[in-house]
Amino acid sequence: MEKRDGVLIVGAGPVGFITALGLARAGIPVTVIEAGAKIIDAPRAAVYFPVTLEFLEQLGIIEAAHAIGVRNEELQIRYRDAGESYVLTTTTIRGDTRYPYQLHFGQNELAGLVHTRLLELPRTDVRFNTRLTGIVQDSSGVTAMVQTPEGDAELRADWLVGCDGGRSGVRKALKLSFAGHTWPERFVATNVRYDGFARYGLGLANFYSHPERWTVVAVISKDGLWRVTYNEDGDCSDAEAIRRVPGRYQDLFPDMGPHELVAVSPYRVHERISEKLRVGRVLLAGDAAHVCNPCGGMGLTTGLMDARALIEALGAVIHGTADESVLDFYAGERRRVFLEITTPSATEYRRLLGEKDPERRRQDRDNLRHVASHPEIMRRNFLSLFDTRGRPML
Ligand SMILES: Cc1cc2nc3c(=O)[nH]c(=O)nc-3n(C[C@H](O)[C@H](O)[C@H](O)COP(=O)(O)OP(=O)(O)OC[C@H]3O[C@@H](n4cnc5c(N)ncnc54)[C@H](O)[C@@H]3O)c2cc1C
Repeated sequence: MEKRDGVLIVGAGPVGFITALGLARAGIPVTVIEAGAKIIDAPRAAVYFPVTLEFLEQLGIIEAAHAIGVRNEELQIRYRDAGESYVLTTTTIRGDTRYPYQLHFGQNELAGLVHTRLLELPRTDVRFNTRLTGIVQDSSGVTAMVQTPEGDAELRADWLVGCDGGRSGVRKALKLSFAGHTWPERFVATNVRYDGFARYGLGLANFYSHPERWTVVAVISKDGLWRVTYNEDGDCSDAEAIRRVPGRYQDLFPDMGPHELVAVSPYRVHERISEKLRVGRVLLAGDAAHVCNPCGGMGLTTGLMDARALIEALGAVIHGTADESVLDFYAGERRRVFLEITTPSATEYRRLLGEKDPERRRQDRDNLRHVASHPEIMRRNFLSLFDTRGRPML
């Protein structure tokens, strides 16, 4: 068995890497293990809200994020059936934050830049092709069973954090339930390179509300890559979803010119939370702890706020400035934030996008018109919607 000092983090996604960076900056040794051969680069989250940007500043990586991200201050909400659109702008929160905007870039780029920063710090180690298969813990540490190309092995550390995504092997090893529901429709995330979106009047982030065919369109790179995400029938196969992409593009962007379809990911979406986020010396964060639909960008935001809280709580326990009860507080508070803020907000975004009832759609438009013309209401909405920080840990 190989003994590692400090914290073993399972999963080299954005939450795992950010947790590792925060702990390493606090002088704590970290080892990150990742089942894959490299960082996942399929289309996933790509929008970072003001609370996340403040956290990236705290971690010393805000300049690097600005260097790769597209800065955006607007969300356009479009009702093609009514010929109306509304613009909500984050400039209304100028007096509340140093970052009254959002940055757009792929989460794989965030993981990549944090990976580099992490390895510049002492006592850090990142191992790809290392899959966790089981956990045993006692009062002094945790032993992780792993599969590597060289064969099975055991790694022991003082603490283990499961950041291994929605299908978390850590959560399963702890035999924790993952209660909630699965959305009946499929979601299809596409990345496309196209320089003609301006002719459709698009902003940098756009919601197309539609009773059958809703869509979210946002720029995700400085060199003109866009994310187009939309719903598909629940029984649509992966192959059929990929075949239907041109039809969906054509419906939304008639006479679309030559473009490059870079990636397509059809997937199933859930609203679920683990029954516990702490069992002894093992903690969960990010999608391993909870998952939600991507419509409002709440999933990664909440996961990164888990990381922020865990760095503070676990760091204090390891340094001996707080007792272990703060880890129970972490577990309870992050569950509360998900249940009271994240999943209701994500569900409301999804409802707004695909509302079927004509009367409710009319009310939504009245509401949006009112909000769009009242900066103070817009400000309060933005401040409450994106704030998944929860109560301070200490
Ligand atoms: C297809 C897709 C599209 C999405 N689109 C959006 C979006 O548009 N907007 C949005 O806000 N959110 C979106 N999400 C959600 C968002 O991507 C997640 O909230 C975010 O990835 C969570 O980060 P994470 O680090 O917790 O988990 P992940 O990014 O899933 O990372 C987990 C890592 O753990 C590794 N791993 C898994 N099992 C093991 C194991 N046994 N041993 C070692 N390593 C392991 C995985 O390989 C992976 O690298 C999407 C999710 C998916 C799946």
